[in-house]
Amino acid sequence: MIEETIFSKIIRKELPSDMVYQDELVTAFRDISPRLPTHVLIIPNRHIPTVDDITDDDEAAMGRMLSVARKIAREEGISESGYRLIINCREDGRQEVPHLHMHLLGGEDVGPLISKKG
Ligand code: AMP
Repeated sequence: MIEETIFSKIIRKELPSDMVYQDELVTAFRDISPRLPTHVLIIPNRHIPTVDDITDDDEAAMGRMLSVARKIAREEGISESGYRLIINCREDGRQEVPHLHMHLLGGEDVGPLISKKG
């Protein structure tokens, strides 16, 4: 069995979080270390470690993640100004928490897509 992460405990409300949305497929909560005025993590309730571990059975949850991002962006008042959705995958993607998560970032200009290595 793949070991679960702190995010599974947040989903089950065994650990505190600033949760902004939850349904039977996905959960969304504010990032503990926000990089921009709006920084929300949207995650599947099922423990899927990375994008590479998605199965056909996860398609509903993956679609829900996007529609929930849209809903939260509207609630945050950033739909018109815009925002960025990011999913990091494994080492080169700099994924830190091995529970698939989508960052919703906005509230100001998010900057270039990636910064060049120094
Ligand atoms: P990533 O680098 O894509 O794996 O992003 C992991 C994100 O999870 C980081 O932005 C962290 O700040 C965030 N994070 C880690 N622990 C928590 C937590 N307990 N509650 C909310 N966000 C967290």
